[in-house]
Amino acid sequence: MSVLTLEGVWKNFHGHSVLRGIDLEVRPHEVVSLIGASGSGKSTLLRCVNLLETVDDGAIYLDGEEITDPRVDVDGVRKRLGIVFQAFNLFPHMTVLDNITLAPRQVHGVPKARAEEEAYGLLARFGLAQKANAYPDQLSGGQQQRVAIIRALATQPRLMLLDEVTSALDPELVLEVLGIIRELKESGMTMILTTHEMGFCRDISDTVCFLDGGVLLEKGPPEQIFTEPEHARTREFLRSVL
Ligand code: ADP
Ligand code: MG
Repeated sequence: MSVLTLEGVWKNFHGHSVLRGIDLEVRPHEVVSLIGASGSGKSTLLRCVNLLETVDDGAIYLDGEEITDPRVDVDGVRKRLGIVFQAFNLFPHMTVLDNITLAPRQVHGVPKARAEEEAYGLLARFGLAQKANAYPDQLSGGQQQRVAIIRALATQPRLMLLDEVTSALDPELVLEVLGIIRELKESGMTMILTTHEMGFCRDISDTVCFLDGGVLLEKGPPEQIFTEPEHARTREFLRSVL
């Protein structure tokens, strides 16, 4: 069964359609990238999955459950998603350890000792063990974003949503964040990500989706999208970014 299914999803803002009948399926362990010009609807799509936006038509299913049903348990859905945005969004007044253990403890009811043990394990795995007691402003941008990813991982999400997680970083810090995403893929994490790093996108994605004005114009394996795209619009976009 697929982890996530979008069926004919439409989203309008002020009478303007930003998503126009999106169909998409994400299978277990699949990495799906959304590419497209600024304003094409990539973030809105992720926000609909996370129920930060309500869809105007169509349906979204997470593990077979319709999450666009108005009666859905929104917190229960979000518990199964790990979300990381472009801006780091760490709580500035809390240590790295507290940032990571907050949701497991408060939302998932994991006892403090176990939450911390798991947090230390994740920090060690991603080379940040010495930073457990640091505050966000004592970390580089790349380290902060790695902590934000670890924090999302700490609740063992079914699906990770990563929205331009390297866009706010200086170029020399991008690689360390891409490295952690690559490792997540190797560990089998199911992910949807948006990125401007086309080399990385090509390298890591199982499926690449090109959005154009809210339409999912074309999707396929990276070799196909990057070397023989079907649509002139896709070729144009790739020419502009590669
Ligand atoms: P992308 O992430 O691909 O750059 P977005 O999903 O952020 O694109 O935006 C798609 C379109 O929706 C843009 O035209 C944007 O201005 C519009 N939009 C996004 N969020 C809102 C909102 N909350 N209110 C009105 N318009 C919005
Ligand atoms: Mg965006």
